[in-house]
Amino acid sequence: MGLAKLIYSLSPAWLQTAMVTAQGFVFNHRRMDVRLARRLLAERRESQWWDEDRFQRYQEIRLRDHITFAATHIPYYKGLFKSLGMNPRDVRTVEDLGRLPLLEKSVIRKSPDAFLWGGKRSRSWNKLFTSGTTGSPMELFSSRESFTRSWSFVFRLREWTGLNDPIFPRRAQFTGRNIIPDKRIEIDRAFWRRNFAGNALLMSTTHLSQDTVEAYAEAIGRFSPELVDGYPSAIQIVARFAMARALELPSPRAIITSAETLVPDDRRVIESAFGCKVFNQYASSDTGAFICDCEEGNLHLNPEFGICEILTPEGRPARPGEEGEIVTTSFCNTEQVFIRYKIGDLAVRGPDEKCPCGRMMPRIEAVTGRVDDILFIPERGFVGRLDPIFKSLNGIWEAQIVQESLERLRVKVVPEPGFDGSSRAALEASLHEKVGPDVDVVIDEVKEIPRGPNGKFQSVISLCKDRYPRMA
Ligand SMILES: [Zn+2]
Repeated sequence: MGLAKLIYSLSPAWLQTAMVTAQGFVFNHRRMDVRLARRLLAERRESQWWDEDRFQRYQEIRLRDHITFAATHIPYYKGLFKSLGMNPRDVRTVEDLGRLPLLEKSVIRKSPDAFLWGGKRSRSWNKLFTSGTTGSPMELFSSRESFTRSWSFVFRLREWTGLNDPIFPRRAQFTGRNIIPDKRIEIDRAFWRRNFAGNALLMSTTHLSQDTVEAYAEAIGRFSPELVDGYPSAIQIVARFAMARALELPSPRAIITSAETLVPDDRRVIESAFGCKVFNQYASSDTGAFICDCEEGNLHLNPEFGICEILTPEGRPARPGEEGEIVTTSFCNTEQVFIRYKIGDLAVRGPDEKCPCGRMMPRIEAVTGRVDDILFIPERGFVGRLDPIFKSLNGIWEAQIVQESLERLRVKVVPEPGFDGSSRAALEASLHEKVGPDVDVVIDEVKEIPRGPNGKFQSVISLCKDRYPRMA
């Protein structure tokens, strides 16, 4: 533990609030350039109405600049162009970009500094971490300017939701950041801290459980936010609790969910409990792509953010309705550059028809989740989207599937009143339907399910990936 973290963990709640607020202040002034944010937001307000040609022209100009920059200043790409015998000026269009190899996370892990401007870190940069679903998180770097550039897309989305002040709305944020040290829990019984500088209430997702959910609902009620955002797995817990108790929650302007897959049933429950629309935002923490819902509830790729390819396992661009892996080339960041980066998420390409919102930004049908959430079952091949099973059954607070071996799944269930022998049988049956009769299904009733890195809920975990056939 670093010294700052140690001091924080030992401080009383009021001092932690002061520290969270100070961090908010740092965010506003050191990480973020608020004046630049306002200027970029004004630009994005115009560009959102561009037609396809205009977006394409913009992307090509930015792409050429970006590739030339990478080949000049980023050691990995200097070496790559040399070894390919390619001139960076040969990459002029999105099709040309396809001549460059795909970038795997493992390559970055091997020599992270080779992807940095000048090959080394600068103290003036912001440092962030990705969640790293599979363990070790990755360090991400960006300057104040690049950071602001990425955030301008969040601000534009907030404008779409109808917020008056998209930069500093009064917001309740469900965060995986460890803001509540364990030592304080028994003393304060408060699972949130106020960030006065950011006009926000930070709510810890790691402490949200059957025992604490009521306190969360009350805290949101008292705070009365204009915006609720964060992990859908956390927000839906509060929503379901309020529905079950017929509790009235405050009605914010909108809810923005991010960082996890939003399943339709959670969206429905959150919308009715809070009485407002849910906007789903997919912005990979590796700052690779930005995809978000418009007012019509359709997902759009934000083309000014960068180039986002959706590639089938054979490596060709997905057709409308086809699922593929998200591969990103972001224009936002020049301090750390990833080109054609396989981020590890899957999406289904949307239809070519224009969205009723009037924007010509390409459509995405769905962001379907992590590649990691797909299990390999010898009888069935790759099986995805297992977690909706739980939603259709009664008496389950939450559940997690752990693939212990190719032959056995262990399901951890946090039961609610009403979970009995027939619920167990129903759960077993619907799982067997998905994975076949030969896989052993063991159901364990547990009190809680620990959150993964960054406080995210992991509904599916495999412990035997090394026995999977290699995915393309
Ligand atoms: Zn739209």
